Amino acid sequence: MEAEALIALAERVLAPTYRRPPVLFTHGEGMYVYDANGRRYLDFVAGIAVCALGHADPGVAQVIAEQARRLVHLSNLYHTEPHLRLAEALVAHSFADRVFFCNSGAEAAEAALKFARKFARLRFGPHKTGFVAFTHSFHGRTMGALSVTEKPAYREPFAPLIPGVTFVPFNDVEAARASITEATCAVIVEPIQGEGGVNVATPEFLRALRARCDEVGALLIFDEVQCGLGRTGTLWAYEAYGVEPDLLTVAKPLANGLPIGAVLMREAVATALQPGDHGSTFAGGPLVTAVALHVFRRLCDPAFLAHVREVGEYLMARLRALALPGVKEIRGRGLLVGIEIEGDARAVVAAALERGLLITTAGDTVVRLVPPLIVERAHIDEALGILEEAMRAALPSRPS
Ligand SMILES: *Cc1c(COP(=O)(O)O)cnc(C)c1O
Repeated sequence: MEAEALIALAERVLAPTYRRPPVLFTHGEGMYVYDANGRRYLDFVAGIAVCALGHADPGVAQVIAEQARRLVHLSNLYHTEPHLRLAEALVAHSFADRVFFCNSGAEAAEAALKFARKFARLRFGPHKTGFVAFTHSFHGRTMGALSVTEKPAYREPFAPLIPGVTFVPFNDVEAARASITEATCAVIVEPIQGEGGVNVATPEFLRALRARCDEVGALLIFDEVQCGLGRTGTLWAYEAYGVEPDLLTVAKPLANGLPIGAVLMREAVATALQPGDHGSTFAGGPLVTAVALHVFRRLCDPAFLAHVREVGEYLMARLRALALPGVKEIRGRGLLVGIEIEGDARAVVAAALERGLLITTAGDTVVRLVPPLIVERAHIDEALGILEEAMRAALPSRPS
């Protein structure tokens, strides 16, 4: 079938939950992906901050092929080595003592909220069930994760959600201190918000959350599904703050595109759990964990993280020097960058695609750049050249 006929199928057979451009992608290599017409695109989306090692990475491909020939799935009824080795590695390189595996970011949020409820119930009784989350948060689309996701457009069609969630302005220390009470079971926060517009938490804010959670016996959950695993130049975003959570969710890049999520937790939280409390048929299978172990080892490499910091600083410096039209603010850390514009971010994304650059949005007015972490300076130069043209084309110039 021709690419155009295939794309037309979407109108008939796919649930209309996504708006996609009329391009059919066929393959990728490193920083680039290709469409059915052989056209090349520079990828500054990376499957939404997922393909940290880029496309068709030979090391990843080799692990997939070898493990696929050995064992793909057995379920959580049995032990396999990759599952255990990945948990061992995650624990060795984080604040955490134990790991629970799942299959996505939303499932990781779901599990973290459930674990917090179980912990609070055992330790304090059945009354301590409240959650505190923040404006512009995004934790996923399942009913539980959605309950702590603030955006009305995502929530309202599906109400009622889980009761007892309080939303507090992000980075507002006083409001957070007032809203976190003895009735709070857990506080969930992205140290650097992704979908909500690339908003960086202040150190005072995360420190205040930690202190207040300790005062009232609430658990602190960091959602590092997007900002974790090297994206901001440290393995974990929390490292740059010197504040540690009780639970941490990860997902997106952990297996470079195969679906996996995980909840990292302190021993105290794990002691509240017992067999049967939570589970998943697919989670932690030998194929996906073998791939994740390979990916995680590469992301942990200090030289790799130094590269992310170096190119991240270069990207930020180049962006600030460009004087792009219609820019209100440039935010972010490492290779998680948001450009807030006066105008429609989707129009910039479309204009960039036409010119061979994949970028995405983070809300209506923020253009988001989340390239594979293997990006080099030359790719950044190429991307910013296209971005500048796209912004000039998409944003009507206003009289000065
Ligand atoms: C993407 C994302 C999620 C949800 O992950 P899914 O795998 O899409 O369920 C949760 N939290 C954050 C911070 C995210 O960026």
